[in-house]
Amino acid sequence: MADYLISGGTGYVPEDGLTAQQLFASADGLTYNDFLILPGFIDFIADEVDLTSALTRKITLKTPLISSPMDTVTKADMAIAMALMGGIGFIHHNCTPEFQANEVRKVKKFEQGFITDPVVLSPSHTVGDVLEAKMRHGFSGIPITETGTMGSKLVGIVTSRDIDFLAEKDHTTLLGEVMTPRIELVVAPAGVTLKEANEILQRSKKGKLPIVNDRDELVATIARTDLKKNRDYPLASKDSQKQLLCGAAVGTREDDKYRLDLLTQAGVDVIVLDSSQGNSVYQLAMVHYIKQKYPHLQVIGGNVVTAAQAKNLIDAGVDGLRVGMGCGSICITQEVMACGRPQGTAVYKVAEYARRFGVPIIADGGIQTVGHVVKALALGASTVMMGSLLAATTEAPGEYFFSDGVRLKKYRGMGSLDAMEKSSSSQKRYFSEGDKVKIAQGVSGSIQDKGSIQKFVPYLIAGIQQGCQDIGARSLSVLRYMMYSGELKFEKRTMSAQIEGGVHGLHSYEKRLY
Ligand code: GDP
Ligand code: GDP
Ligand code: 5GP
Repeated sequence: MADYLISGGTGYVPEDGLTAQQLFASADGLTYNDFLILPGFIDFIADEVDLTSALTRKITLKTPLISSPMDTVTKADMAIAMALMGGIGFIHHNCTPEFQANEVRKVKKFEQGFITDPVVLSPSHTVGDVLEAKMRHGFSGIPITETGTMGSKLVGIVTSRDIDFLAEKDHTTLLGEVMTPRIELVVAPAGVTLKEANEILQRSKKGKLPIVNDRDELVATIARTDLKKNRDYPLASKDSQKQLLCGAAVGTREDDKYRLDLLTQAGVDVIVLDSSQGNSVYQLAMVHYIKQKYPHLQVIGGNVVTAAQAKNLIDAGVDGLRVGMGCGSICITQEVMACGRPQGTAVYKVAEYARRFGVPIIADGGIQTVGHVVKALALGASTVMMGSLLAATTEAPGEYFFSDGVRLKKYRGMGSLDAMEKSSSSQKRYFSEGDKVKIAQGVSGSIQDKGSIQKFVPYLIAGIQQGCQDIGARSLSVLRYMMYSGELKFEKRTMSAQIEGGVHGLHSYEKRLY
């Protein structure tokens, strides 16, 4: 045996790497690029990794991914797609309260179990009324009751098949003449479970199933398309009514209380108080106000980057915290305001404090790759909020445009002059409303077309699962447990380690991610 090999048993393994506590013990702030996670032992397949994680004290998601409340990232289309894939979107507030509430309503109405407030018409309405309802709401399967309201006797149903081939001149035809009459309808009795109702609907091969009480009055309907949506998106984030979960951002001024009222009427599930520095009297007052007026509404406070900031918001009663200051891709806060914190350190410090109170944290901003998502989760974040990574997808607001032959969409910071000039909500986030000189804390730019998030989010999900597999964590709870117990080991990266970790030494290459 060569004399440099030590003989003996295989039991002893020298200590290697740093625990999270050791990694963050020095005063230097670390970004996601400044460290790596050492691999562990794999005894499961990546597909099995459970990504269930808490968004707030009361809301749990199957996918720990969130779209940011920015006007170039999240309106209804993005929020619907994120919720279908198990995450959630927060509708931005750089718009009127009415517009924002309407976007929330679109998300909540996109899918449901029992539809208890369906659009209903009467036999004396016309074909034109159905076409108008279809234009306005997107569906045309409409139950017909005696008085045209819920709770009145069901007399028939009109679907697109009844009216598709009618000519323009027939738009004044009464629905009583074209509807499928009550005797031909398959219905279910009030009190059926959703499962039973779904089975009746499937057997009937119809598109809608009206639910009636013993006086034959309409109490609800269910839609076949919702069953398909449920099958196609098994991870979807839903409330007890099977409606998609939706979040929305509000500010902390007096007039935000009106916005909040409209959002709650639209069915919003969770509010994020949108501020770049959340540790303020304004935010504490708003948390108290919401908790008193809407005790069941989940409230996320922020942004914070220190335990001291987090303490005040946790004491005030927030259900979650948004962590990050100055790490966003469009952000110039650290440059301009001299305040902020490298995101790795911010996430670890705040998560480590907040977990004692059962408050989950969102790692917000600075996520450039799926590896960064894994790192944020490994530092104690429960979920990750993204702006630039989701911008320029099909579901992001705004039109594509071409520049030098490249297909682009706009992406801008909510503290950019560009965004602040559009509405005052954005100025409030950065406390500059009413200031004589506006100080930008963000920039406005563009991002190359990324296609649909229907493809991109599954790539992120698979990437997180494979990262957890390499680490040897079967679930995100196991990942956090390993980190806090010291089993998970990290290592700092020198500048040359970072260069080594990137692509290097090639004459040219193409980087395709999925
Ligand atoms: P799960 O959907 O399998 O997780 O089971 P749940 O207990 O959540 O749902 C109960 C029943 O409702 C099952 O038969 C589901 O298929 C069905 N369901 C779930 N979501 C929807 C929906 O959005 N619409 C309808 N019509 N049914 C749904
Ligand atoms: P339709 O056949 O044109 O009525 O529409 P679909 O059945 O294809 O789609 C109906 C979708 O819209 C489902 O996801 C419903 O949950 C949703 N929806 C929300 N509110 C209503 C409503 O008042 N009536 C109907 N028919 N669907 C609604
Ligand atoms: P990204 O994912 O693009 O790196 O960062 C998105 C995050 O940056 C947002 O969720 C928000 O917290 C933050 N952000 C958005 N707009 C601005 C801005 O104009 N200035 C600053 N400082 N941060 C912004």
